[in-house]
Amino acid sequence: MAEGFRTLIVGGGVAALEGALALRDLAGDRVTVTLLAPEPDFVYRPLRVKEPFGLEQAQRYPLSEIARDIGVELVRDRFGWLDSESPVVHTDGGDRLSYDALLLALGARLHPAFSHGLTIDDRRLDEQLHGLIQDIETGYVRSLAFVAPSAMPWPLPIYELALMTAHRAYDMEVELSVTIATPEDAPLAIFGIDVSQAVEGLLSDRGIAVLGSAHCSVPEPGLVLIHPGGRELRVDRVVALPELFGPSTPGVPTGTHGGFIPVDVHCRVRGFDNVFAAGDATDFPIKHGGIAAQQADTAAMAIASLAGAAVEPGPFNPEIHAILLGADKPLYLSAHITGGHGSASEVSEEPTWSPPTKIAAKYLAPYLEAREPQGTQ
Ligand SMILES: Cc1cc2nc3c(=O)[nH]c(=O)nc-3n(C[C@H](O)[C@H](O)[C@H](O)COP(=O)(O)OP(=O)(O)OC[C@H]3O[C@@H](n4cnc5c(N)ncnc54)[C@H](O)[C@@H]3O)c2cc1C
Repeated sequence: MAEGFRTLIVGGGVAALEGALALRDLAGDRVTVTLLAPEPDFVYRPLRVKEPFGLEQAQRYPLSEIARDIGVELVRDRFGWLDSESPVVHTDGGDRLSYDALLLALGARLHPAFSHGLTIDDRRLDEQLHGLIQDIETGYVRSLAFVAPSAMPWPLPIYELALMTAHRAYDMEVELSVTIATPEDAPLAIFGIDVSQAVEGLLSDRGIAVLGSAHCSVPEPGLVLIHPGGRELRVDRVVALPELFGPSTPGVPTGTHGGFIPVDVHCRVRGFDNVFAAGDATDFPIKHGGIAAQQADTAAMAIASLAGAAVEPGPFNPEIHAILLGADKPLYLSAHITGGHGSASEVSEEPTWSPPTKIAAKYLAPYLEAREPQGTQ
């Protein structure tokens, strides 16, 4: 590949692929793109919630094929540390990758927030929840709490899992009490009031109780303490979302909370001219695939401009779209994000964006729609 403006993208998830596709569109041959990613495949994480119910498996797309298809070089290795003086990224495998611009899209690290209960890990959700669902089907488990840690991670899965579990119990004609305990002041509060009210109604129709503004601890198996107030919830099983932390990126500054990478409105890492970050790795408080993609698009505009393309970098102006699964029909949710809450909140049973995919991403969504996934697992 001819040497253009060298852009190194670290990661092989939503933000990384969206960034690579956006750069191809915005800067064409002016940039050469290298993708540094340890895993062989891009996995469509939102569909993992269906796996424990035997409904569908998350699609996988080999990164090597995507890289070949869009004309980027793939290096299968891990980010080790950044020497911004040189400037070079050192990989765990001992390589030194130099760049003119760097986009960090390493995602978040997952940690259990509670020492008791089951903390979901979407890489093995099927294995984790399959037994629980069987215990519900046979009537062995009759009460269940889905608990989110105090810093709400991805907004959707807790609601989707609760809805699908309640639905399965109903189908099997078994009694099951389902409670969601969440630090949000209302269900899916970041989507704004209209969405929250619609989701609240849906959950109530399904007999799912919601404890909002709940900061929980799980001091022993089956016991959830809700703060403030000290209310106790006793259930047969507790399923918790993980707490998210920023990635380990030696040489890159981390913000004050959770080790996330601090970025400005152009998704430029604070203190750097040519280092950008996008997605769950950044200090933007909402962790969502569509948001990751918009951040990657914002960074790609700034990088294309640095490479000399006729692109005016615009600021990150977050808009959130989501498809909530688990009701009779999928619900299409949208909002503009202002100050951590949604305005222009919209809920519909019909798609309101195109293509209407779980991860709303300007370039990645149509690209994946046009590709065949390969072998699910
Ligand atoms: C169960 C579930 C359901 C979800 N549902 C939705 C939904 O419906 N809609 C939606 O928009 N979002 C949804 N999300 C959230 C969405 O999946 C994430 O916000 C999104 O994947 C973030 O993208 P990312 O690129 O920042 O990080 P990731 O997708 O996590 O990608 C990070 C990449 O970095 C790589 N990496 C990690 N460490 C290194 C290293 N040291 N060196 C190099 N590479 C590294 C990883 O291998 C990976 O390829 C859901 C998440 C889960 C878990």
